Amino acid sequence: MFDSTDTESMTAAEIAARRRMLEVLSYFQAVERKDWRFDHCSPIIGIREGYRIVGRYLLRVDDLRAGREFDDAVARGVFYLDGHKPDDDKRTYILPKEELYVPPYQIPFRCLVARDGRNLLMAGRCMSADQLALSSARVTTTCAMMGQAAGIGAALAAARGTDAAGLDPLEVRREVERRGAHLALDETPPPPAPTR
Ligand SMILES: Cc1cc2nc3c(=O)[nH]c(=O)nc-3n(C[C@H](O)[C@H](O)[C@H](O)COP(=O)(O)OP(=O)(O)OC[C@H]3O[C@@H](n4cnc5c(N)ncnc54)[C@H](O)[C@@H]3O)c2cc1C
Repeated sequence: MFDSTDTESMTAAEIAARRRMLEVLSYFQAVERKDWRFDHCSPIIGIREGYRIVGRYLLRVDDLRAGREFDDAVARGVFYLDGHKPDDDKRTYILPKEELYVPPYQIPFRCLVARDGRNLLMAGRCMSADQLALSSARVTTTCAMMGQAAGIGAALAAARGTDAAGLDPLEVRREVERRGAHLALDETPPPPAPTR
């Protein structure tokens, strides 16, 4: 069990993960007689969930269940509630399998603007969301949409001589869509089924 908000715990996780990786390799080499060599691995350990910043809107799992739309939408999510229990290493879902599905939903720009700071934008896993909402929104395509929207917001703030809090979220949405983002939920293909 490791805690991504604690530096010493993260160091221990890095060590444990690299040790495990070499154990797996040596198992395949010694027991399975595979001619495998170590090639490369990620320079840092991947984390599903760490710090999040409370924004001007907190996306909640009920918004996802309702397939909610927002005037200032800048991204959309299509993934199921892929939240795992933090206290076991078997990747057990937090919810029973029949409660994992959510319809496509939108993410408002206000989830990317810090509530308690005038000029701080968030995108990806540090967005403003509850734990289960994040378990869906943290997938790569949705994070990328948020990243583009935050970047557009920063550029607009600079162009308008304002800060993140002073932006018109509807203007950000217009610019996001002008650059090709598809936000309409009725154009969204059905979400994938849970993998396990
Ligand atoms: C093991 C694993 C498997 C996954 N599998 C999938 C999958 O199959 N499909 C899927 O859609 N999603 C998957 N995900 C989820 C997805 O990859 C992440 O949730 C997503 O990449 C998060 O995006 P992000 O931009 O928030 O953070 P990241 O992708 O982690 O990007 C943050 C970046 O910021 C950089 N950074 C950190 N601190 C600093 C600093 N101080 N200065 C400068 N740069 C800094 C980091 O180096 C990193 O490049 C997986 C995640 C993990 C951990």
